[in-house]
Amino acid sequence: MTGPEKASSCSAPGKGASCTYCASDSAAASIPISDGEGKSGAEALKDRIKRRRLFEVGGGLMLVLAGGLSRGMIPAEVIPSIMLVMGMIIAGYPIVQAGIKAALKLRLDINFLMTAAVVGGLAIGEWSEAAAVVILFAIAEMLEDFSLDRSRRAIEKLMELAPSVALVIRDNTEVEVPVADLQIGDTVLIKPGVSVPVDGTIVSGRSSLNLAAITGESMPVSCRTGDRALSGGINGEGSLIVKVSKKPDEFTINRIISLVQKAQEEKPRIHTIVERFAAYYTPIVVVLAAATAVIPPILFDGAWNTWIYRALAMLLISCPCALVISTPVTIVSALANAARRGVLVKGGAFLESLWRTAVFAMDKTGTLTGSELSVRKLYPVNGATSDGLLRRAATVESHSEHHIGRAILDHARSRKVEFGTPNNFASYPGRGASAEVDDQEVFVGKHDLFEELGICDESIHPLLKEVEASAGTTVMVGSRKKLDGVISVADNPRPEAAETLQRLKDAGVEHIALLTGDNRRVGMAVGRSIGCDAVHAGLLPENKVEIVKDLRSKYGMVVMVGDGVNDAPALGAADIGIAVGGAGSDAALETADIILMGDRIDRLPWLLRLSRRTHRLIIMNIVAAIGIKTGFLALAVTGLATLWMAVFADMGVTLLVVFNGMRALRK
Ligand code: ADP
Ligand code: MG
Repeated sequence: MTGPEKASSCSAPGKGASCTYCASDSAAASIPISDGEGKSGAEALKDRIKRRRLFEVGGGLMLVLAGGLSRGMIPAEVIPSIMLVMGMIIAGYPIVQAGIKAALKLRLDINFLMTAAVVGGLAIGEWSEAAAVVILFAIAEMLEDFSLDRSRRAIEKLMELAPSVALVIRDNTEVEVPVADLQIGDTVLIKPGVSVPVDGTIVSGRSSLNLAAITGESMPVSCRTGDRALSGGINGEGSLIVKVSKKPDEFTINRIISLVQKAQEEKPRIHTIVERFAAYYTPIVVVLAAATAVIPPILFDGAWNTWIYRALAMLLISCPCALVISTPVTIVSALANAARRGVLVKGGAFLESLWRTAVFAMDKTGTLTGSELSVRKLYPVNGATSDGLLRRAATVESHSEHHIGRAILDHARSRKVEFGTPNNFASYPGRGASAEVDDQEVFVGKHDLFEELGICDESIHPLLKEVEASAGTTVMVGSRKKLDGVISVADNPRPEAAETLQRLKDAGVEHIALLTGDNRRVGMAVGRSIGCDAVHAGLLPENKVEIVKDLRSKYGMVVMVGDGVNDAPALGAADIGIAVGGAGSDAALETADIILMGDRIDRLPWLLRLSRRTHRLIIMNIVAAIGIKTGFLALAVTGLATLWMAVFADMGVTLLVVFNGMRALRK
């Protein structure tokens, strides 16, 4: 906000909430994407301007102090006065400059209001007061700028993880290529200790990746040929060669950055109300000030100097900075806090309202039970072998995104069962999948799917019952002609599930419903063991939507927690959709409102607490801003307030709400 440099930047369209009155890019609401080359030229220039400003304000402060204190001590009155004026000019010229600019544009911004108050103060002979106004305002502005920088930096850290160049291997040599110019299929060398610039598959090397910045998980995970590498991770001890699998703007880190930026532009409703209020507040106070200055002297024979002085104090507090900045600074801090812990929130509005929810609807597979499922047992029938059953199932599932599919593939690999690539893969969301294996259409999925297709065989029912009784998820495998058998998949709740649900309840959630496409028996077993209030089983994705709508009409607001693989419709139907394990899942990033990047649901109670805290801080800020200003307005009219107190009331409360809002960065 110091001077004209900032004043012009804040009015740029499309940026976050900005206070047109105080000309401040409020609360770091808009954070530019850095080009990843560390400090850019523009940043260095900003730093220089800041340093110069520090000297100016420091120098001004000393001159004004010296001038004020030496008054009456030295016989010549002019010397202290000269010092006061010099101090005011040195510290105040950017303010006046910006004030004049604003006046020419007919905008009542803080610089203009300060300038008017200072000129008025000088005119009625209150030199020391005018000087105090200038210095206090300049100091407060610097402090505000400094603290906003802090909440900005929390998110800029993310951007530092997006390198701007990558080492591409071409014709056996390494060439530096800008990340934006990378093509799908390029092979990139990632040296130890540097951040991964691309999303892709590791084609050679062995190392570990630290994904802390994306998932909030501080333990590095080991990786080797065939594993996936995510941009934004930090490479550990080995070199990796990674084949790029996406276009640069779809790299995880770039998507996160753009989501976080968009999130900051979303305004919660409360902020819109505040802004609307602010639009009336300033002109009204300015008119009141003008009336205070002229009406008592003209009509009631008041002393001009007294009433002008009171009017000036009113002018100084007519800026709604504190109010306008109160919400964004809190939201940005809270968003940054969440991002640091691997929770991506797509807008302040979601964070501001999450705590209000009384109902959580939670998906089972991949959400309440871990994403790492395992095959428990194979039951081949009709003369099939265990390996044959596994091979056919794995071939179909090799194109599936489903957790069950991955478990089957893992099992096949661990048993060294070779499987091919399927032709004509089709998935039936919430039911299963099919593909051609050895020129035959093979289905893998739940019992209902086989019944629907009319290819179930009564003789298998006793086996199904037996497997279901062991409370495992039962997956059938077979063609239209004959069934190959059943695979039992262990679907155990995550170790932290029960405690997480209890904590949600402690935090005020009334009803937790489990929604699953799996059979009733498994659903009930899982639901009971972790303390769900209701279990809805055997649901297709569209049935999940119905249940969510039902819960909405009963309880008002519903939060749906799903894994993003096939819960997209339900996530969309809920007031707030939360996806678990979002890192690397495009579907989750796309459809959910809040994404737990790490594969952990124990962030949920924390998030609920953060949401409640954010809401409280916002309310606290708004009450403080309005309360202090109204109180001061009364003091100003009755003549109990001085000009320097007015600056305190204005900038002081702004600083107060900034510091208070930044408390959302902690814990
Ligand atoms: P949940 O609602 O518990 O997350 P889903 O809706 O993902 O479960 O799936 C419901 C059921 O459909 C699973 O329990 C499984 O039996 C079956 N299913 C879905 N997709 C597949 C697949 N790719 N392979 C095998 N079974 C599947
Ligand atoms: Mg699921």
